[in-house]
Amino acid sequence: MTSDQLEISAMTDRQMRGADCVLCGQPVRGDHVRDLGQRRDADGTRVFPRAHPECWSNEGRRP
Ligand SMILES: [Zn+2]
Repeated sequence: MTSDQLEISAMTDRQMRGADCVLCGQPVRGDHVRDLGQRRDADGTRVFPRAHPECWSNEGRRP
């Protein structure tokens, strides 16, 4: 899975607005976060997926 293949439909409201890591579901802090870029779901709703840097690298992605 790449950042372009995030399952937005599986995200919680908090994950969709960037409050929780999309990979582990725990809250993210503003100064310790991997911003995955704004995107839109199938309905055109804007989502702001974010993840912990360590979660991102644990998934085999480049930092
Ligand atoms: Zn995480």
